[in-house]
Amino acid sequence: MTGQSWSRYFQAWSEKVGLTKYIRLNTTIRQVTRHEDGTGKKWWRCHIADSPRVLSAEKLIVANGITSLPNYPDLDWSAFTKPVMHHRYFGERSREWDNEDVKHVTIYGAGKGSMDNIVQLAKSGKKITWVIRKEGRGPCWILDGNLPGGRHAEYLGFSRILALLMPSLYQDSGFPGLHYFFKRNIIGKNISKFILNSSRNVAMMLMKPLTPNIEKAIPDIPPFWMYHVIGVDNYDVKIWDYFRNGTVEVVRDNIVSLRDDTVGLASGESFKTDAVVFATGWKSNISLFSENLSLEMQLGIPSKNYTEEYLSKWKILEDEADKRVYAENPILKDAPVAPRIPPQDSGPFRLYHYTIPTEFADRSIAFLGVSPSPGTSHYALIMGLWTAAYMSGKLDLPTKEEMEKVTAFELRFTQIRHVGFTNEFPLISFDWMSIAAVMLQEAGINPYMKKNWISEIFKAYTWEDYTTIYDQWIAKHGLVEGGLKVSH
Ligand SMILES: Cc1cc2nc3c(=O)[nH]c(=O)nc-3n(C[C@H](O)[C@H](O)[C@H](O)COP(=O)(O)OP(=O)(O)OC[C@H]3O[C@@H](n4cnc5c(N)ncnc54)[C@H](O)[C@@H]3O)c2cc1C
Repeated sequence: MTGQSWSRYFQAWSEKVGLTKYIRLNTTIRQVTRHEDGTGKKWWRCHIADSPRVLSAEKLIVANGITSLPNYPDLDWSAFTKPVMHHRYFGERSREWDNEDVKHVTIYGAGKGSMDNIVQLAKSGKKITWVIRKEGRGPCWILDGNLPGGRHAEYLGFSRILALLMPSLYQDSGFPGLHYFFKRNIIGKNISKFILNSSRNVAMMLMKPLTPNIEKAIPDIPPFWMYHVIGVDNYDVKIWDYFRNGTVEVVRDNIVSLRDDTVGLASGESFKTDAVVFATGWKSNISLFSENLSLEMQLGIPSKNYTEEYLSKWKILEDEADKRVYAENPILKDAPVAPRIPPQDSGPFRLYHYTIPTEFADRSIAFLGVSPSPGTSHYALIMGLWTAAYMSGKLDLPTKEEMEKVTAFELRFTQIRHVGFTNEFPLISFDWMSIAAVMLQEAGINPYMKKNWISEIFKAYTWEDYTTIYDQWIAKHGLVEGGLKVSH
């Protein structure tokens, strides 16, 4: 789906449900602070950027996205005379590269976004040098968007079968026998291992016939181990042809200087270029609480400052969680070792169900959207329902100690299972349906909506399956009365 069509959809939907009057467009929150008023009531105060105005709210949902803060490489380009932009601005600043004077563009960075830029530039007739730094995870996999039989690849990611066949977060919320077979029986385990490792051959089919240039773009570890991000080939061109016909040249090196019109590499080599695009991704930390480091730590969001006490408590919890992760998913003991993990400058998200801080389980704050998966469009509905139920006091939580154990387990599962992702964000990839099932069950909704168990395992869930979950919940609990107070 294109950005424009999402945008039109959001607008039409907001108008339909009467939400538009509550939306403040073009309003950036700079910091959020916690205050107690004279009556002992606590408020979240949202300080608006470039303005003395503050919004105070009893309850706060932070949903600012993990692709909102551009991540720039540590380079000085003040002496560079050609356009330089982060891929965040590739569309907005397209006039700077989409003109006659720009014949050659340098792309720095190797995720799916870099491939999007490469395709767009190649279609506009530009030559491209794709520079992939040495200490990062390297290029990402681009998988075929179509499955044999004509189904779209998403069909697999939206079915339960993948979580059954692969390491899985929650195994007793449905089909525990099959989970046991594929995770702990010797035959099942080998089937699972075969699928994880053979995903490399399937992924490489798109890249063949190989050339020395394409070989430099082969990721290190089979895609299902999630050392790199996975992109789906949703292009209307054959991308690897650009790598065969000289349009794209792959260079595995670090850029160390940008001066005049020249890119300098760590190897000592250099080349001229007409524009540079940093396809270097995003900062996943939430800067909204950064002026109060102890609040940031208590909220369980990525921080650079932790107390010794906090770190030793979570070390114990996470060591314990590791035992459960490996006991339930013994195949993870044979996971490939990540050749390189990019330096991490902040800690991880430590949120219960990737959503609420265990130190602030007072139903006043939640973080939505920190755990990416291919099922975001569906999972968002479920997270939204669970959070609304939690915030309105209609969902019971376990004790704080139990929540901390669960939080540690959910964090360590994502870190161990996705061998390249440590602190960036809790990637849940193929496993989103398993935590979605748990969250639906906790909200009192049956997550198993297909007609029979065969469909339940093999048939993809689509938005149509989830259209009634809110009505089901309201039928049980009624509408939340009174609304929420916001003061300005
Ligand atoms: C290039 C790209 C391609 C993608 N392609 C796909 C795809 O094909 N299919 C798919 O399912 N997913 C795709 N995704 C992922 C998908 O976009 C995200 O999963 C989804 O948008 C996450 O929704 P969100 O609401 O959590 O965050 P976002 O959509 O990022 O929304 C966050 C919002 O918060 C606002 N915000 C941030 N900080 C502040 C602040 N301080 N004050 C006020 N507002 C703030 C932002 O402006 C933004 O409006 C893609 C992502 C990218 C970057």
